[in-house]
Parts: sequence; structure tokens; C-alpha cells
Amino acid sequence: MRVYLDNNATTKIDPLVKVKMQPFFEDLYGNPNSLHQYGIEVRPALNEALGSMYDALNAPDEDDIIITSCATESNNAVLKGIFFKYILNNPEKNHIVTTAVEHPAILDTLLFLQEYGVDVTFVDVDEDGGISPEAIKNAITDKTILISMMWANNETGMIFPIKEVSEIAKEKGILFHSDAVQAIGKLKVDLSDVDVDYLTFSAHKFHGPKGIGGLYVKKGKSLPNLLHGGEQMGGKRAGTLNVAYIVGMGLAMKQAANHVEVMDTKVRALRDKLEDAIAKIPDTIIVGERAKRTPNTILVSLRGIEGESMLWDLNRAGIAASTGSACASESLEANPIMTAIGKGPELAHTAMRLSLSRFTTEDEIDYTIEVFTKAVERLRSISSSYAYTNIAS
Ligand code: PLP
Repeated sequence: MRVYLDNNATTKIDPLVKVKMQPFFEDLYGNPNSLHQYGIEVRPALNEALGSMYDALNAPDEDDIIITSCATESNNAVLKGIFFKYILNNPEKNHIVTTAVEHPAILDTLLFLQEYGVDVTFVDVDEDGGISPEAIKNAITDKTILISMMWANNETGMIFPIKEVSEIAKEKGILFHSDAVQAIGKLKVDLSDVDVDYLTFSAHKFHGPKGIGGLYVKKGKSLPNLLHGGEQMGGKRAGTLNVAYIVGMGLAMKQAANHVEVMDTKVRALRDKLEDAIAKIPDTIIVGERAKRTPNTILVSLRGIEGESMLWDLNRAGIAASTGSACASESLEANPIMTAIGKGPELAHTAMRLSLSRFTTEDEIDYTIEVFTKAVERLRSISSSYAYTNIAS
């Protein structure tokens, strides 16, 4: 059996999305900016796709959705855009507040901007992996121009206090960006309820194609162009539109919004079944209160077992999980979130993330429970550090 439990890294394409995209690789290959029939005939599908994105976010039509190549580009566009539009002209407002556990697409961009005089506060998470609105509020100074806080964390699934922080930002007249990559398709993301100025998303995290993402920009909050060139996207982001992928993202986002209920019920129940079984294994620590997490995610630390060893045992049995963000996994570093929530280096190396999707089945979860439990027993029986920690504790 093959079981894919790494859906926070990427997801399989929804079969309906694949079917919807297909004609745009065949007959409908025109450039939508062309004046001839080939260009004209692809425009309705583009408009439909954008309409689905506005609907999925419940965003008013006068706002803007800029199509990008990925969430990384969307995050870069916001942070560098704020720098060029505001900070460069007014160094008195050069302060950005973010969290210590954002994706590298935020953290590394901010480290880069620090070299150009941007002052950044990275607010720490608590030991549950959560963020308190007060901690964000306390980080704000007279110089703060932007708060950038993810909607939900990619490693732990912890949901951050997005509404409260958006209210703090509004009250203080500070711009607010959220990287909602891990929220869309798992939680209700309703922009008529939560007031954000900028919101990042990426199709491959909700059963759409890879290499396409978006940036929602609230009316009146436009940013300078990151990519100059042609007049595409009303001059806001140059580059020939990837029609097939935009069409795919539109349907994937519609499907994602329509399946939030399924995530909250069926997927949550499967996740809880798996989590309950893992929690019964001695010396396991599951990070973050369950009710405060996205319904598909488990981050567990298995004392005495290297995350990578566990990953390979599962992989041999056909089960895909991860030791953390796919962006960091090539370096086999300690899981950064375990470090951030104050777990020692030993636990940071024993972290393992399992993330389900709406395509995960009960049979797959039952099989995973069986393999996982046996793998822990096997690895602990040969782990000298487990024997040591057991005697020591
Ligand atoms: N932001 C978060 C929270 C993510 O989880 C990821 C992907 O892991 C990204 C941004 C980057 O997404 P993309 O691959 O579309 O650039």
C-alpha cells in the first residue's frame, strides 16, 4: 500500500482540476492578451477562475487578486513591495512585526531586508507552538508599518489568532499581511470576517497545480510591481499568463472552499484516530493542543528515535511523512519549530510530521497505525539513546 501523509508539503491534484486544465494544453493555448480569436476564447475561463478565487475568499470584487508563480513570490511581493513603497521613502516607519515560525519565504526575505535597514521583530511562539495577540501587540512600536503573521503553521498546524491580530493592526493603523498557504482548504478563510490587507496562497497546497499562487490585495493597498515587463494583470505583475494553471487554481480553490466541512469532520476524525494511536505509544510528545490545530496535521516527537530513521522505516512500507518543512528537509537540520517552542536539541531531531488530505482513507490510516507502531518498537530496540534516556528519566 502507498500512503501519502505529507499534504502540508504538497497535495495530489484533484482529478476534476486535471480534467478542467487539459483543454488549455491542447486547443485553447492562446495568449489571453492577443487580440485574435485564440486570445479571445481563453478569456472567459480566466474570468471564471478569478471569480472562483474571489468567491472562495469571500472577497469583494473591487479588491485585487494578483496571480503569481507561487506563495514564495507572493510573500516576496508583499515584503519587498512594502519596503519600496513605504520604508525606502520614510525610514521613520521601518519596523515589521512577524513570528519566529513563519515559512522561510517570509523569514529569509525579512533577513534580506534587514540588510537594507528594515527593523524586524520575530515574535516567539509559546510552548504549545501558539502565538498570543498580546505578544504581537507588545512588539508594535511607533515605527511599525506592517504585521505579517501566517494563518496556520505548516509544521504544527497551530492556528494563529488572525482575527484578533487583524483588529490590533486596524486599531493601530498598521498594514496586515497573512500567509494563508496552510489555511486554505483546511479552514474557513472569509475575508468579509477577517480584515487583511494582503493574503498569500498557493494552488499546490489545496489540490491544484504546482508553480501557481496568488496574492490578494485589498482595495487601496496596492503595491509596487516586483516583476516589470508586459502589461499583464493590469500592469501589476508582468509575464504571460499561465492560463491552464490559473484555470486549475480557480477550480481547486472552489473545491477547497466547498470541502472545508469535510476537512472538519471526516479528515479530523481520521487525524484524531491516528493521533490517539500515536499518543498511546510511550514517550511521545504531540505538539499543540488538538482543537487549536488545522484538522489534518500532527507533529510528534518520538523520544530516542531520529526523525530521519523513522521516515525511512515508514518510506520502506510505502508511507510518506516528513521530519518538517520540505523546504528545510534537504539539509537534515533539527526541526526549527521544535527548537522555537523550546524543546531541546534531542527532541528537535525526533520530530515527525504527518499531514492528511481529503483524499486520505480509513484503510490508509489503519495501515499507518500498524506500521508506525512497529517502526517505533523496532527503532527503539536498537536505539542506544532511547535506552539511555529511559534509564536517566
Ligand atoms: N508559506 C507556507 C506557510 C508554506 O507552507 C509554504 C510551502 O511549504 C510556502 C509559503 C511556500 O509555498 P510555495 O511552494 O508555493 O512557494
